[in-house]
Amino acid sequence: MLQITRPRTVHSIVELRDIVRDWRRAGDLVAITPTMGGLHEGHLSLVRAARRRARRVIATIFVNPTQFGKGEDFEAYPRDDVRDAEMLAGAGCDLIYAPSVLEMYPEGFGTTISVDGITDEMCGGHRPGHFDGVTTVVCKLLNQAQPDYALFGEKDWQQLVTIRQMVRDLDMPIRIASSPTVREADGLAMSSRNRYLSREQRVIAAKLNKALFASADHIAHGVPLERVLGACRKALLSAGFDSIDYLDARDAHTLSPVDRFADGNESRLFVAARLGKTRLIDNVPIERTGMTE
Ligand code: AMP
Repeated sequence: MLQITRPRTVHSIVELRDIVRDWRRAGDLVAITPTMGGLHEGHLSLVRAARRRARRVIATIFVNPTQFGKGEDFEAYPRDDVRDAEMLAGAGCDLIYAPSVLEMYPEGFGTTISVDGITDEMCGGHRPGHFDGVTTVVCKLLNQAQPDYALFGEKDWQQLVTIRQMVRDLDMPIRIASSPTVREADGLAMSSRNRYLSREQRVIAAKLNKALFASADHIAHGVPLERVLGACRKALLSAGFDSIDYLDARDAHTLSPVDRFADGNESRLFVAARLGKTRLIDNVPIERTGMTE
């Protein structure tokens, strides 16, 4: 009978390093997938992608207080260690690293890693300090585990390009890999925060991806950007979203605004919208999907 054993969980840097050292002695490659728990299939796809690259996979679970702003959902953020461990067991994770806040930020901690420029707008513009919290904690996790690979989801595209730049700028010897956004059957991007949605809000939430894909398609087929974005904003607000933090077409790598869509340039459409207390983000490529004009 096939038995899936739960991966071991460690809480300290010392234990983490001991295990990684043994793996390295055995010649194994190591990959890490940082998460905040509240796991879903999107996280598991990262673990599986990590597994394709490395023999050993670490999932970190740490709800990082420094990336939450005042009045955000740090306290309410879903925490379910047992369920998370069971899900990770089935996805091929070898080790869960779940440090405490004190392990990560001991008395006297005083360093912040900050990536300029690409963190100024979009989520960075609406969540001051958020990306400093992300880059600082990811830098620490990467230093603690010293993996060969680190995996991040394309759902958080701005986070992905920010981490790529940090690793490049700081000469960290780690390859950053990404995995496509995993979606629910109706296209809603999976997110730990989706569980905050009421049944009515959940129906409205599904309209975000539909509006985004349709808008990206219109842009790709030459409809003027401002017209598409205006119509998309209107459609989201009349569908029931309370407000839109941003809806922007950007270069996929530099995140600078784009208004011309030449072949060969990779652009994406990014959105963050609020539904009650929940903030949903999504992004899709702007590319020709085979429809004729
Ligand atoms: P979080 O636990 O929300 O901090 O996310 C941990 C990692 O999972 C990040 O790299 C996210 O981009 C990634 N992730 C979150 N949701 C999804 C999703 N629906 N599909 C793919 N990756 C995701």
